[in-house]
Amino acid sequence: MSALSPVLQQATPVLAVRGEGVHLYDESGRAYLDFTAGIGVTSTGHCHPRVVAAAREQTGKLIHGQYTTVMHQPLRTLSERLGEVLPSGLDSLFFVNSGSEAVEAAMRLAKQATGRPNIVAFHGGFHGRTMAAASMTTSATKFRSGYGPLMPGVALAPFPDPFHYARYGMDEETVTRFALSELDRVLATVTAPRDTAAFIVEPVLGEGGYVPANTAFLRGLRERADRHGILLIIDEVQTGFGRTGRFWGHDHFAGDPDIIVTAKGLASGFPLSAIAAPRELMAKAWPGSQGGTYGGNAVACAAALATLDVIQEEKLVRNAAERGAQLFAGLREVAAARPVGGQGGIGDVRGLGLMAGTEFVTADGEPDGATASRVHAAAAERGLLLLTCGTQGQVVRMIPPLVITADQVDEGLALWKESVTAALG
Ligand code: PMP
Repeated sequence: MSALSPVLQQATPVLAVRGEGVHLYDESGRAYLDFTAGIGVTSTGHCHPRVVAAAREQTGKLIHGQYTTVMHQPLRTLSERLGEVLPSGLDSLFFVNSGSEAVEAAMRLAKQATGRPNIVAFHGGFHGRTMAAASMTTSATKFRSGYGPLMPGVALAPFPDPFHYARYGMDEETVTRFALSELDRVLATVTAPRDTAAFIVEPVLGEGGYVPANTAFLRGLRERADRHGILLIIDEVQTGFGRTGRFWGHDHFAGDPDIIVTAKGLASGFPLSAIAAPRELMAKAWPGSQGGTYGGNAVACAAALATLDVIQEEKLVRNAAERGAQLFAGLREVAAARPVGGQGGIGDVRGLGLMAGTEFVTADGEPDGATASRVHAAAAERGLLLLTCGTQGQVVRMIPPLVITADQVDEGLALWKESVTAALG
């Protein structure tokens, strides 16, 4: 008899047998309110009928077109349709299967196009688990530890994290100036601009703790990128497709990427990811240097087309903004009743749209992963599925499907309140 390796750490003991909308169901029929959406993937809800129908129909026609062998219709149509939602100018696409692979594709494109070897990433960023993506990932050492050395040529600069740097007396504006001036020092002392192919950044740190970037920071990156001929890669794997209440996370900050990386929300749970860049830039990739057996799978592309229809027709981006505002109001109310005080509590509530994090801290103001995991477990017992994130697992995050209703947000908030009370007393 064989079993799954213990290397796979499952956050709950739930055996999911069915999903519908914002709910997962176990084998006894118990319903769980799913505020994880498969780590921000099932934005249209579990098994949205339009997505199911599109995938079924495509499965009956062609499952695997193999895009290095032949072109197929869902891939062609999806490339055209994505043009409608991508930032203008990013008119050339390349598809793979996962966020990590897309990050690696962006990295390779940047290095081949510039002829430069190095990348600058930002503290707390998460870009994936494959070797190059892990090398750019610093949201927690567990993603980097025990199999190094990692890919050389990655330099790190601070991400403007106001809550973290507040302990050193910095306000948000100072934090941003600090981050950009440290980036200048990195370019002066670690990787010269002429050796630097790209900056890679998330509009909202995801695994690193749900910390939104800001306009001054992204403008500062753009300005330095232009000055030095460095490419700006924006990793929208978690923030894309309406998650933050705008179509792209960087839309909040007037970000202006050279290369955008997308995955998760793209195909409602089918493995599909993509990078997009201007045609002239993409043309600098060495022909044939990227590809893969499964990339741009026909069923995944059909599901992505249905996903785009649902996002547009059901106005999910607007729903993410509205339900997000409702969710944040409720989370802030709970946080106000749990000031850090003498025994620790909730230090911060932050995020954008339906990407909401609550940070737990000790009485000394230090990240409190133990309390966060107790709250997470208490919520799961009550039928509310959540995730943790943050550099020390100190943030409990909510990332529900974008189809969530006002009543379901209220239901989740009521369970959240009970869970916090159960865990903190
Ligand atoms: N980038 C970001 C911003 C992510 O959040 C993730 C996944 N959490 C990845 C890349 C990696 O994606 P995948 O797990 O599909 O490889």
